[in-house]
Amino acid sequence: MAYNRDIYEKAQKIIKDRREASERAAEVRTRLFDSLEPEYGKLRQEMILSVKEAIKSIDMKPEEAAVFLQKQKIRNLNAQQQIRALLEKHDLPEDYLEVKYQCPRCDDTGIDGNRLCECHLEILKKLAYDEAGSKSPLKFCSFGDFRLDYYSDKVNPEYGCSPRQRMGEILEYCKSYAATFDADSPSLLFYGETGLGKTHLSLSIAGEVINAGCSVIYNSAQNIFNELQKERFGKGDADGRFEPMVLECDLLVIDDLGAEFSTQFTNAALYNIVNTRINSGLPTIISTNLNMKGIEERYTRRVSSRLIGEYAVFSFIGEDVRQIKTERAE
Ligand SMILES: [Zn+2]
Repeated sequence: MAYNRDIYEKAQKIIKDRREASERAAEVRTRLFDSLEPEYGKLRQEMILSVKEAIKSIDMKPEEAAVFLQKQKIRNLNAQQQIRALLEKHDLPEDYLEVKYQCPRCDDTGIDGNRLCECHLEILKKLAYDEAGSKSPLKFCSFGDFRLDYYSDKVNPEYGCSPRQRMGEILEYCKSYAATFDADSPSLLFYGETGLGKTHLSLSIAGEVINAGCSVIYNSAQNIFNELQKERFGKGDADGRFEPMVLECDLLVIDDLGAEFSTQFTNAALYNIVNTRINSGLPTIISTNLNMKGIEERYTRRVSSRLIGEYAVFSFIGEDVRQIKTERAE
């Protein structure tokens, strides 16, 4: 994936800050130990001296140099040995004085051999998703403020259960979905009237999955299609990164499908997203006011049959919760 310069610069700053923080922390530990154990300063000096002395061997005859070097080596190892004993005396780990980098693969330089280290790529990816997410007008919700008491507990004969019971089951499913989310998680389709909590639950899942460190794109169908269209037709500040993110992120949440202005482009884009992500085994969550018949009429049968065949489908029932909330607040 290609990133813009701004993202590269931010990533480099993060890596530099990491490295400096690790080095500062080691310095602080060294100073602490120095004040705790006066012997330590002398032993460190002894180690430095042994290395300086060793350089003198350059001017010596080979046999003489070998003996001299061996002597300096023993001197150095002895000092190291005594430092370890001092650490042990204070119940400190053997590597207490060493710099502990966050990424042992690249020692927080961001470079592994002759390529970018995994840690560097992770930072780039996260920055790109943060940027994509910040374009979203949707705010995260949590499961904690999902109110089941807004749903009626009267049995609805059409469904054979009360809206509260149905929504309680869906809520539990969503919680465990979010808690155990991985690449094998199924795709979900939430459908039902406006104001029944579809957006609330899909955003609650998105929030938890992001916290677990996965890459998530969440946005309304209208905004997703707008961004894709800008990219496709090269308008505005589009830089070609949005489509790969939509197709490759760990979880894609498309909110309010069907509310967008429908064109040939949006219909083809939806099929491409649904199909590509199913083929790559990547989970997607779609919420919509349309029922299956509505989806088929609007996006053709090839879209609806993929959704029915591959998505876990949840029908939200009840009365508009947003309306009830407003009425109760009055
Ligand atoms: Zn690294």
